[in-house]
Amino acid sequence: MASDSTLSSPPRRCAACGQETLGSRCTNAWCNRADRGWSVVYSTGTYEGELRRAIVGYKYRGQRDRARSLSALLAGYLDEHATWFEEYDALTPMPAYLGPGARRSWDPVGRLVAELAERVGDSWAVRPALVEKVGETAPMRGQTQWQRARYAECGLRPVLRAGACEVGGARILVVDDVFTEGSTLREVARVLRRAGAEEVAGLVLARPALGIAGGRRSAGWAHGERRRGPA
Ligand SMILES: [Zn+2]
Repeated sequence: MASDSTLSSPPRRCAACGQETLGSRCTNAWCNRADRGWSVVYSTGTYEGELRRAIVGYKYRGQRDRARSLSALLAGYLDEHATWFEEYDALTPMPAYLGPGARRSWDPVGRLVAELAERVGDSWAVRPALVEKVGETAPMRGQTQWQRARYAECGLRPVLRAGACEVGGARILVVDDVFTEGSTLREVARVLRRAGAEEVAGLVLARPALGIAGGRRSAGWAHGERRRGPA
């Protein structure tokens, strides 16, 4: 009977990132550390299949009208799980840099959040830039989790600034497209919490498929990047 109950038991999931854990600990190192800066990351799905195709098409293949369906996905998730989000005060996008020397000419996440703002109306305080990125940083793809964590502290941290908005005491959801392991979110959370935020959590379209978060493989897939032409 024990084996029956084992077979029928639901998969164990990490309380921080939602990934199936396989064992007792999440493979994503940040989830096991108290100094990660963010509380939890909510995800509408895993980075595979149609969701992956939609995100890659949107970000890298010029399918910008996918912002409509992807923002609908986020809005539906917020609505479906409304009780999870009652305590949060504001939504804001993961900051992007578009100034001189920027690698991108547009901000996919910013656009997604702008569409989301129209969908959720007055039910959410959507803030465009609670944290600003004032300089470009190198892509993190192709690096190990350790390298990405170091790079976030040494490369990203110096170019993040608290925005003008007041965040004192607020619980904030930072929206991103794909969760890698949380090194970038940790830096954004650090800025927000230094500015007085009570809690910083993530809301993403997709998290890694089973057992990948935080692993070496996540470096390459994380942003769906390949050799790409103009964004
Ligand atoms: Zn985790």
